[in-house]
Amino acid sequence: MLKIDGHTHTELCPHGGHESTRAMVERAIELGFDEYWITEHAPMPKDFVQRFAGPADDWQTEGLSWEQVDDYLNLAEQLQSEYADQIKISIGFEIEYLAGFEETTHAFLDQYGKKTQHNILSVHYLQDDQGKFWGIDYSTDELQAGFADELKPPQLLYQRYLKTVLASARCDLGGFGPDRLCHLSLIKKYQDYFGLPEAFDQSCQRLIDEIMATACKRQLSLDFNSAGFYKKYCNDFYPGSQIVLAALKAGVPLIFGSDAHSVDEVGRGWHGMKNFLKVLDTLKR
Ligand SMILES: [Zn+2]
Ligand SMILES: [Zn+2]
Repeated sequence: MLKIDGHTHTELCPHGGHESTRAMVERAIELGFDEYWITEHAPMPKDFVQRFAGPADDWQTEGLSWEQVDDYLNLAEQLQSEYADQIKISIGFEIEYLAGFEETTHAFLDQYGKKTQHNILSVHYLQDDQGKFWGIDYSTDELQAGFADELKPPQLLYQRYLKTVLASARCDLGGFGPDRLCHLSLIKKYQDYFGLPEAFDQSCQRLIDEIMATACKRQLSLDFNSAGFYKKYCNDFYPGSQIVLAALKAGVPLIFGSDAHSVDEVGRGWHGMKNFLKVLDTLKR
């Protein structure tokens, strides 16, 4: 089994620690990783602000600025070639799935995709009934402001989230489209703050199975992401064991990702995550 850290960020990430990307790559080498995938957040669509209802700081610090895209690709390419004999570096973007902005996202990937090897797809924003977007992982206040009615009963919020993830999995973003779905239980980032249920109910499970069937058909993998373990109110990995079991049953591959935004976060939780996956895989049979 290849040792891959498949989801990491760089010094250019506006909400990261701004630590040296080179030092992050060197940490991955020190920890014995075979591959290191750099997946910086793509810039947000320019007219997203008109559809966004949360705090300005959320969307302004979500992704690279448009001016940084070339700097990012140059930085990643430099490290890719410099460390080629020690670790295989893949370059890509963490792409935001935003309903209604598919064309902008497709055009972005057409423009920059040639310089990437693996892009990944995330849902950090959900639309309310009026069609306005709110962030689900920026703050407890923002999640509460956007979806107070659905936090009780929370299975409704889970459904809204999973339906959006299903739409993201079905979305065709072209020849350079993402090949992995990220942190599929991000809606539970604040589970211990809001007292959310650990289990997805039956309606949610049906959506999860549909997501897995779509991932299978479209040859998408899942981000097996350790970052949630270290979030104050999450304390679980993404996407959690219920979704992992569904993925294993459907034959959807899982790829470890630390989602590192700083040097110390690179490869975090690798042994525990890898061995837990092995145990689940055995149980499934
Ligand atoms: Zn990030
Ligand atoms: Zn990420």
